[in-house]
Amino acid sequence: MCKSEGRVRIVYSLPTMRLSQRVLSLKPSSTVAVMNKAKALKASGVDVLNFGAGEPDFNTPEPAKRAAIESITRNETKYIDTPGDVQTRDLIAKLLSERNGVPNVSKDHVIITAGVKMALYLTFQALFDEPKSGREEDRAELLLPVPSWVSFAPMARLAGARVVELPTTPEGQFKITPEQLERAITPRTRALLMNSPSNPCSTMYTEAELRALAAVIDRAGKGVAPEIMVVSDELYQSIVFGSVPHFSIGAVKEIAERTVTINGPGKAFAMTGWRLGWASGSGEFGKQLIGAMTKLQGQSITCVPGFSLAAARAALTEAGAELETMRKAFAARAELIYSLLGGVAGVKVAKPIGAFYVFPDISAHLGKTSAGGRKINAAADFAGALLEEHQMAVVPGEDFSESTGHKHIRMSFACSEEQIRKGVDRLKAFIAGLK
Ligand code: PMP
Repeated sequence: MCKSEGRVRIVYSLPTMRLSQRVLSLKPSSTVAVMNKAKALKASGVDVLNFGAGEPDFNTPEPAKRAAIESITRNETKYIDTPGDVQTRDLIAKLLSERNGVPNVSKDHVIITAGVKMALYLTFQALFDEPKSGREEDRAELLLPVPSWVSFAPMARLAGARVVELPTTPEGQFKITPEQLERAITPRTRALLMNSPSNPCSTMYTEAELRALAAVIDRAGKGVAPEIMVVSDELYQSIVFGSVPHFSIGAVKEIAERTVTINGPGKAFAMTGWRLGWASGSGEFGKQLIGAMTKLQGQSITCVPGFSLAAARAALTEAGAELETMRKAFAARAELIYSLLGGVAGVKVAKPIGAFYVFPDISAHLGKTSAGGRKINAAADFAGALLEEHQMAVVPGEDFSESTGHKHIRMSFACSEEQIRKGVDRLKAFIAGLK
C-alpha cells in the first residue's frame, strides 16, 4: 500500500506463483467433461439422456462386493505390496498365460494399479524420455492408430513422446494395415498403441491381422527401430459380440517381450469406480519394465487398496455368469443402436463388434444451423447444440482424432434399450430441425 497525492492507493504486486508448462499444455479429458456436465444437468432436474459415459449401467457383481466386504471385516485395510498382493498377481499371470496365451509371464511381470488409466500412465512414463538433445525432431514417437480413446495421446505427450497419428477409415473398419505401419516406423519409433476392441470405434482386429502387424514390429525391432514396443490396451476383451474372437498381440512369441498388455475389471465387471487396472510384460525386459513401473508407483500412489483386490479376484473367478449376462445385453444393444442409427438421415455408422460405443459420421450436417440458431461447423458444435436443445449428451469426436474427429460423435450404449430408443428419437428430432 502507498500514499499518493493525499489518497491511499493500493499497489498490487504481480503474482509470482505459476503452474508447470506440462500442466498448462494439457487439455482436460473431453469424455470426463461430458460425463460431468450430464451428471450436473441431471442433478439439477433436467431430463438429460447421457450417451457420454464409458461405463456399464450394471451393478458390480455380488461375489465381488461380498469379497471386498469380507476383506474389510478381516481388517485388510493397510498398505499392501507396491505392485499388488502376490495372490492377485499370480491369478492375473495365470489368466494371461492360459486365456490370452502370453508366454513367459509370472507375478513378477504384473503390476496392479489405480485403473487402466494409471497402468497406461506408468507405462508411458517408463518408456519415454524428453529428448537428450532438447530438439523437437529427436522426440521418441508413439504410433497411434486414430480415431483412438482421448487420453492415450495426452498421457504419452506428458511422458515426452511425440504422437504420430495413423489415420484409419470407416471403410477399412477403422484398422491400420501392415503396410501403413511399416511406412510409419522410423528410428525414433518407441511404441505402437493397440486397442482391440476399440474405444471409440468398437472395431476389432482378427488374429491374422494382429499377426501380420506383429511381423512388421518384429522386423522393425531387428532393424530400423530396435527399441520398438507395443502397448496393447485390452480393457474390452470380454465385451465382444461373436464375429471376431479376442486375440492378444502379446501372444505372438516373436514380439512377446516387446509387448505390454494392459487390462482391468472396470468395464467387463462393472467396476469402474473401484479404480483397478493392471499392466503386464513378458520375459526379461517385461520384468524390468514392470520393476520400473513399480518404482514409479512406490513414489506416487504406493499401492492400491488390498480389499479392492479381494473384489477383483472374486470377479475374475466367481462372476462368470454375471459377465455373460452383461455381455449379452451389450450385444443386443449393439444390434439395436446400429439398426436405429441406420435410419437417421445423414448419419453413417459402422457395426460395433466389441466394446460399447458407436462413432457415427455426422459430417453431412456440418455447415448447417440448428433450430435454436446454433451454427454447426464441427462435431463440438453438433454435440453442444444437441445437449442444449434436446438434452442429449454425446462426446464430440475432435479429441479422438486430430484429422477426422470433427466429423464424428461418440455414443456409448452402456445404457438401457429404452434410453437408446429415446436417444435416437431425440437425435432424429435435432437433425430434422437443422437447416
Ligand atoms: N482405456 C480405454 C480404451 C478406455 O476406454 C478407458 C475408459 N474409458 C480406459 C483405458 C480407462 O480405464 P479405467 O477407468 O480403468 O482407468
